[in-house]
Parts: sequence; structure tokens; C-alpha cells
Amino acid sequence: MAENIAKSSFMEKLVSLCKRRGFIFQSSEIYGGINSCYDYGPLGVEMKNNIKKLWWSSMTLDHDNIEGLDASILMHPKVWEASGHIAGFTDPLVDCNKCKMRFKYDENLGKKCPNCGGELSDFRKFNLMFKTFMGPVEEEANVIYMRPETAQGIYVNFLNVQSSSRQKIPFGIAQIGKAFRNEITPGNFIFRTREFEQMEMQFFVKPGNDDSWFEKWKEERLEWYKQLGLNKDKLKFHDHSEKELAHYAKRATDIQYDFPFGWQEIEGIHNRTDFDLKRHTEYSKKNMAYFDDEAKERYIPYIIETSAGCDRSLLCFLVDAYVEEADRVVLKLHPKIAPIKVAIFPLVNRDGLDEIAKNLYDRIKNKFKVFFDDSGSIGRRYRRQDEAGTPFGITVDSQTKTDETVTLRDRDTMKQERIKIDDVYKELERRLS
Ligand code: ATP
Repeated sequence: MAENIAKSSFMEKLVSLCKRRGFIFQSSEIYGGINSCYDYGPLGVEMKNNIKKLWWSSMTLDHDNIEGLDASILMHPKVWEASGHIAGFTDPLVDCNKCKMRFKYDENLGKKCPNCGGELSDFRKFNLMFKTFMGPVEEEANVIYMRPETAQGIYVNFLNVQSSSRQKIPFGIAQIGKAFRNEITPGNFIFRTREFEQMEMQFFVKPGNDDSWFEKWKEERLEWYKQLGLNKDKLKFHDHSEKELAHYAKRATDIQYDFPFGWQEIEGIHNRTDFDLKRHTEYSKKNMAYFDDEAKERYIPYIIETSAGCDRSLLCFLVDAYVEEADRVVLKLHPKIAPIKVAIFPLVNRDGLDEIAKNLYDRIKNKFKVFFDDSGSIGRRYRRQDEAGTPFGITVDSQTKTDETVTLRDRDTMKQERIKIDDVYKELERRLS
């Protein structure tokens, strides 16, 4: 994020670029939109998939002892009793008697409604879980919940995954999936929404080894963001104090990023102790203990959780990449995150240049996400790709016909060099690896 852009207008500019270039649209826009729900457009979905793929491979390919899982969103309602969500997943809420708006209570709010000046009620607890009904009859007995976190799907499958994969402790289970929270005050674009995607890895360890694993995962997760190009000075840990700790946690830290609206969490790392598996043992009456063959002992493992928001990471990568230069806006996204890897342009649409460019496009389009653009001046075509974050541009010009070379343009430096058309694939592969 360029420091010269006023923080107040920064998000407006980013939101507008996201719409213009097809990253993110307001959900149900033609009906006036629905608060805090967003749709990912052609570039947004590519970028989101890249983030998910990178996270997934950093977990399941880089670690022999992490298995994947894809659990269902709807779960047995007892799960949420055991997890403590029915009793405790609440925010304090106040209502305005006049305009009926609801606000998350905090000490600075006062007694008057910030919207209309009306009288605010006393606060009451508001459960953040979305309720729905399973089956054709809408009655209390059929109430189920949209999961507010993906973690519980992992905990209830702990023994299924362990016994089928024959993993031994320490090992982890990774999952990417949607979660839903009826947030009282969603906002800041896709930062806090009511439907979002989480990338969670729950790591099961022997009690006593939990502190060192917590430290290890803390460092590894911070490194992941740095490796993908985020500005190191805008990342930090925020360790939770005793007062901030959730009821189940022994230790917790947030990885925070310095957004235009302040330092905010992008991922939480928690030592959840044996709380979850003990509670599921108690509520399901199934023993969730692990049997250690070698030591011949049985115990309930401790869990180190790494819980990242996919949408929030995506916002963070966009914010970090957005730069305004003298005559262009550019998203300096890491090439692995960029939705389109390379754009191909014939300088003009005649003299056979378009055919050569199309031919090159056909040769590499199954290997990378490639964009072909033959309309408008070459300068405008470059600018469009700069805004889309496309790291490389290839131009076919009249010289191509004489020596079979093309220009390869670097998005960030705007430098161009000539390379053989037959080397394009190899060169891109090298730069993208
Ligand atoms: P916050 O305090 O910001 O509400 P949290 O501490 O409740 O977050 P966790 O329950 O630890 O968040 O969830 C893990 C991650 O899931 C967060 O770091 C964030 O990236 C993401 N996340 C949580 N709630 C939302 C939301 N409403 N919208 C988008 N992402 C979210």
C-alpha cells in the first residue's frame, strides 16, 4: 500500500478497482445488494483459488504429517453444545428504540443511538450462529446451525482421520471451507462478513509438547505471509493477555496486518488444550482419546490451531499490493497469487502479428492463466493488466516476424526485454516458480 494515499480514501479506491476489474462485486447488486455479502468475479475467484492452493500445499504437501478433510457445513446440533457455541458464542447487543438499528455494545457507545439519536436499550446477549431447520417441519426440534467455524468438523473426525491414515501424534488435519457468523457489525469490505471461508489446520500433540508446537506454528504461519510478498513491517503478532483468552485457550496469538483501518487480525493461532476432544467425549459418549502404541499409553491430545480467513487474507494481499504511480495504478501481487500470470498482445491487429500472438496464446494457455488482448492502444492494454496485477506481458511486434522474438514486460519495473518466442514458456515457468 503506498503511504501517499490517504487512508480514508484508500478503501474506496480499492473497492472500485475490485469492481472495475472483476475481482469482487456486491452480492445481489441488481436488487440493491445485501449487506456484507460479496461475490468473487473472474479475477477474484482465480486469486482466491491461488491463495487456497498455496495454503493447502504448504500444509498437506510440505508436511507428511498433515492430512486433509472436507467436512459438511451442517452438523449435529450437539456439536455446538459440546463446543460451547450455544452457550457462549455471543456478542453484547443494544437496540435503538426509534430506528431499530442494532449495535455491538461497547463502553464508548453511550445511551444514544449513533444513527438517529434515539434511546438505546440495555445490552443483551446475541448468539452469532445462524439457525436453520432440517427437514420439512419448522419446529424447535429440527433446528440446526450453519457452522460458525470449520474446526469442529475436524475435531469430531479426529479418530476417523487418525485411524484411516495411520498417522501418529504429532499430526495435523487441514480443512478449507465456509463458515457463517451473524456478525452485528460487519464491514470494511470483505474484512468482516457474515459468510466467509476459513483455512484451518488443527495439530494434535502430546500434552507437555504443546508450548513448543505453538511456537513452531506461530513462526511458520507468519513466514507464509512474508514468503508471499506481504510487507514485513505491516505484519506483527498480537499475543492475547489473560483477559483476552477464549475460555478454551491456554495461549493465543493473532497475526495482525496494518490495514488502512488499523492493525487487525488475519489469522489466529491458539493452544486449545484438550478442551474440545474432552467435551466431545463427554457429549457424544465416544472416547476421543488417542492410543500411543509405542509408549502404551492413552491420552487426550492437546490441539494447536492455526485459523486463517481466506477472504481476509485476500483483502490483505490486495491492500498490500495496491500502488498508485505517476501514470498508473498497479497491483504488485506476488506472481503466485496474481489471478492472471501473463497477458499476450499483438502490437497491431494486422500484418500477421495477431495470428502469431494467437498461436502463442494457444500454445501456453493450458499451462498458465493467460489473457489475450488485442483491443486498444498498447499503453492502455498494459495499464489494464497492471490494475489486474498481471506480472508479465508479452508483445508481438514487427520484429517478431524477422527474428522470432517477442518483448517480455515486467509489471513492476516496466522493463522490457526480447526473448525468443520458443523460450516464452520456459522463461515464464522459471519466473513463476
Ligand atoms: P475477529 O475478532 O476479527 O472477529 P475472531 O477472533 O473471532 O476474529 P477466529 O474465530 O479466530 O476470529 O477466526 C479465525 C479467522 O477467521 C480470523 O483470523 C479471520 O481471518 C477469519 N474470520 C473470522 N470471522 C470472520 C468474518 N466475520 N469475516 C471474515 N473473516 C472472518
